[in-house]
Amino acid sequence: MSDPAVRHCCRQMTSRLEHVCALHPNPFDCPDQVVIYSPRFREYGLIIHDGGTGVISIRFCPWCGSTLPV
Ligand SMILES: [Zn+2]
Ligand SMILES: [Zn+2]
Repeated sequence: MSDPAVRHCCRQMTSRLEHVCALHPNPFDCPDQVVIYSPRFREYGLIIHDGGTGVISIRFCPWCGSTLPV
């Protein structure tokens, strides 16, 4: 789900994005999956767990505070 060629801002972000859940192949179904990275748009987002596929795009890393690429 994450592109190994992409370097994320910090280890927290990387490990959150690389989180793979055996129970939920779809990250939108997994309550432990809080962030998502879209390589197509080079965009980071917070997953809204309301049963849909809503994402709030974020401009700053919630863990280290880095400005994320847009
Ligand atoms: Zn970070
Ligand atoms: Zn899960």
